[in-house]
Amino acid sequence: MNNKHLVVLGGGVSGLSAAWFAAKSGLSSHITLLESSPHVGGWVQSQRNTDTHSHASALFEAGPRTLRPNGPQGAVTLDMVYRLGLEKDVIAVEKTSAAAKNRFISFNGALNKMPTSLAEALFPKKGHVFRGVIARGALEPFIAKSTLDDESIHDFVARRFGTHVADNMISALVHGIYAGDSRQLSVKSCFPFLWQAEKNDGSVVKSLLMSAFKNAPKEFSKDFSPKSLEFIKKIKSKSIYAFKDGLQTLTDAISDDLKTNHPNVSLLTNTNAIKLSKSQNGVEVSTSCGKAISASHVISTIPSFTLQHLLPEASTISPILSKTPAVTVAVVNLAYKKPNILPVTGFGYLVPRTQKSNVIGVIFDSEAVPGQDEVPMTRVTCMMGGHRFKEVFGEDGFSSEKCLEMARDAIKKDLGIDAVPSNHCVHLHRDCIPQYTVGHEARLKNLHHALLSEFGGRLSVAGSSYLGVGVNDCVVSAKNVTAKLAESLDSPVTGLEKVVS
Ligand SMILES: Cc1cc2nc3c(=O)[nH]c(=O)nc-3n(C[C@H](O)[C@H](O)[C@H](O)COP(=O)(O)OP(=O)(O)OC[C@H]3O[C@@H](n4cnc5c(N)ncnc54)[C@H](O)[C@@H]3O)c2cc1C
Repeated sequence: MNNKHLVVLGGGVSGLSAAWFAAKSGLSSHITLLESSPHVGGWVQSQRNTDTHSHASALFEAGPRTLRPNGPQGAVTLDMVYRLGLEKDVIAVEKTSAAAKNRFISFNGALNKMPTSLAEALFPKKGHVFRGVIARGALEPFIAKSTLDDESIHDFVARRFGTHVADNMISALVHGIYAGDSRQLSVKSCFPFLWQAEKNDGSVVKSLLMSAFKNAPKEFSKDFSPKSLEFIKKIKSKSIYAFKDGLQTLTDAISDDLKTNHPNVSLLTNTNAIKLSKSQNGVEVSTSCGKAISASHVISTIPSFTLQHLLPEASTISPILSKTPAVTVAVVNLAYKKPNILPVTGFGYLVPRTQKSNVIGVIFDSEAVPGQDEVPMTRVTCMMGGHRFKEVFGEDGFSSEKCLEMARDAIKKDLGIDAVPSNHCVHLHRDCIPQYTVGHEARLKNLHHALLSEFGGRLSVAGSSYLGVGVNDCVVSAKNVTAKLAESLDSPVTGLEKVVS
C-alpha cells in the first residue's frame, strides 16, 4: 500500500461511509476520521427507553428512521447493509401495506389521505386537499417552459400546477424532507426530476407519462457481488426499510467493522478539526487535541457552515459555504402503552405551510415500521420547527417542557389522543437540515472551482450540505468521492465533479 494519509472530517453517516469505502478500496495506507462529539453517527441516533413499570422498551429515533430502497442511490446503501451482515436486522415494508399506502396531509382540521388509485385521484371528497388537482394537472402540458436558471419550488409548482398545489401539497412535502420553506428552496437542487422534466420534455405530466413507456435506466452496477445483488433485488421492490433496533444499527456496524477489520483506520472521537491549510503535499489539519496531521487528502463531511470557519481568513471558499443555511428541528417521541390508538392507519401526516399548527409532520412509528416493538404499543414522533422554529417557539427560546406540551396538544387536536404517554423523549437539533436555497447549484459550481484553485483538489466535500440531504444521498456522495480518489490519491478531487460535468 502507498504511504498516504487520508483524513475524514466528521463521523456522521457520510464520514463513516467515506472512511469505510476508502478502507475497503485500500486507497490509502492510513485513514483518520475526526469526530468532535463523543459518539459517531451524527444525526443518526436510536435509543430504547425502558418503561419503569412494564420494563418494555420503546424505540425512539431522534433523527432519520426509514430509507428508500429504490433506484441506484438506494442500491448503494443496500449493498453496504449486505456487506456489513445486517440483512437479518432489516425490516422492509411492503408497497401494499397500509403504512406504505396511507399518507396524509392535515388540511382544514382533517387528515386527508393522499390518493393511491385513479378513482381516489379523480373523485376526492368535497373539501379534500386533492380536489381539483387532476383538472389543473390536465392543463399543465400547455404551460410554457421557463427560461430561468433556477426557481423556488413554490414558484415552479405554482406556475405549472397552480397555487393551491404549491401552497398545500408541495409545501407539506418540503416540510417532510427539508423542514424548509418551499418559497426559498431551489427546485433545481431539491427536486431535479421536476426541473429536468420541464427542460427536456416541456411538461412534468408529459414527462411522467413518457417515462412509463421508456425502458427503466440500468440501475445496478457491476461492483455488487451476486449475493449482494440478490439482496438488493429483494428489498428494492419494497416501499421503505428500517432496522429492528433503529438506524443506528447501520452507523454502529460501520464503526465496528472499521475498528475490527481495518487496523489502518483511526476513529478519533472528542476531536475537533479546527483549521485546514494547504501544504506542499496535501493539507495540514490542526485538531483540538493540539496535534496537527499532514494529510495527503481531506474529505470534509462536516456541515458547510462549520467548514467555512476552518479555512484561511482570505479564502474564497468560505463565502460560498456560508450561503447554505440550515434549519433547527425539535423532535418529540411519544410512546403509549395501548396499541392501535391512532384514528387512522398509515405512515403519518404532513402539515402544509398554510395551516396553523405546532408540528410540521407526525410519523406513526409503530405502524410505519411494524416489528420494532417488544410488546404491542403505539409510538409517534412529532417533527416541530424547521423554517417555522421562531414562529412556533417564539423569540424567548425553547424549553423541553413547553415543546412536549405543544406536541401533545397537536396529537390531541389532530388525532384525538389525550392519553398521557408512558414514555417520551424531546430532542432539539440545532441547524440539522441544510437548506438548498435558489442558486444552490451555481454556488456548488463555484465551490468546485474554488476548491481546485485553493487546495489543488486535495480537499473534497461530501455529506448533506451539498448533493442531497437523505441518508442514501450522503452514502452515495461518500462512495463517489472515494471511488474518484481510488483512481489516484494524488489526483484532484472535489466531490462536486457531478455539477460541472
Ligand atoms: C430529525 C431528522 C430526521 C431525518 N429523517 C430522515 C429519514 O428518515 N431518512 C433519510 O434518508 N434522511 C433523514 N434525515 C436526513 C439525514 O439524517 C441527514 O442528512 C444525515 O444523517 C446527515 O449525515 P452527515 O454525516 O452528512 O452529517 P451529520 O450527521 O451532521 O454529521 C456530521 C458530523 O460532523 C461532526 N463535526 C462537526 N464539526 C466538526 C469538526 N469541526 N470536527 C470534527 N467533527 C465535526 C458532527 O459532530 C457530526 O457528527 C433526517 C434528518 C433529521 C435531522
